Amino acid sequence: SIVVTGATGQLGRLVIADLLARGTAPAEIAAVVRDAGKAADLAASGVELREADYSRPETLKDAFRAGDRVLFVSGNEVGLRIPQHTAVVEAATAAQVALIVYTGILGGPDADLILAEEHKATEKLILASKLPHVFLRNGWYTEVYTQSLGTVLEHGAVVGAAGDGRIASAARADYAAAAAAVLTSEGHEGRAYELSGDVAWSLAEYAAVVGELTGREIAYRNVSPQEYLAVLLGAGLPEDFAAVLVDVDRAIGQGLLAGTSGDLARLIGRPTTPVRETVAAALKG
Ligand code: NDP
Repeated sequence: SIVVTGATGQLGRLVIADLLARGTAPAEIAAVVRDAGKAADLAASGVELREADYSRPETLKDAFRAGDRVLFVSGNEVGLRIPQHTAVVEAATAAQVALIVYTGILGGPDADLILAEEHKATEKLILASKLPHVFLRNGWYTEVYTQSLGTVLEHGAVVGAAGDGRIASAARADYAAAAAAVLTSEGHEGRAYELSGDVAWSLAEYAAVVGELTGREIAYRNVSPQEYLAVLLGAGLPEDFAAVLVDVDRAIGQGLLAGTSGDLARLIGRPTTPVRETVAAALKG
């Protein structure tokens, strides 16, 4: 089977939709989910459900089978992911899957970001497992920004601490299409793809796009890391996660998320989705 973990998440759902659109038979697809209640639509489409929780290794025993081609979508519980991902890789190894495709972070072992630590550790675990693998080192999703458009419009400003650093983001659907392409074609084993958008933009340019599309005056307000931390804490973010986001802007300021290797466009056989398009879609709701 083609197995997708995190299948009830935003990326996982798009990957399954893409596989189905490419003509993969639903019965050939298995969705690993921790909450079957969220996957009724997937089951109804004929996709096999396998219930497993990265935090409970015993539940992962039946998640994978010999010969499966597995998309391992990294978890979203930052700080807990090393034991979780260890359990996933151990289960995939025990099952002797044919391929494990892991969604990591742009830069891989060289990514100088707090957020990258768990991804680096996971790549090492996969290499040590000796399983045939592919690393999809994902850059930023444009939706990471558009999900807070409401706050931007409320304040008339994009606030950040990234200076004029650029971000080569792409739409989540672009990364999903790349994953589906790798799962359904040959010749990717052992490769690490640096996936990012074709165009890198600055937060000032992002503010300008939002302004143009809404007919409003939207500025980029660059603040110090300390001020940005205060803004995030004020918005109710937990301290650890706020610190991670401040570190992300530090990295963006240093150009670490600006790489435009072209790997993503090549894998999907088309240009990546322009930021303007994702902003326009988000504004439409
Ligand atoms: P989502 O938060 O929408 O989905 C994460 C998925 O992982 C969900 O299906 C979730 O299950 C599943 N998951 C989390 N913890 C466990 C667990 N303990 N056991 C089983 N499943 C688990 O994120 P996206 O789909 O948008 O992104 C996919 C991944 O990419 C993220 O998890 C994160 O690692 C990374 N990411 C990358 C970003 C980028 O800009 N490149 C931005 C944000 C995240 P459930 O549906 O039950 O919650």
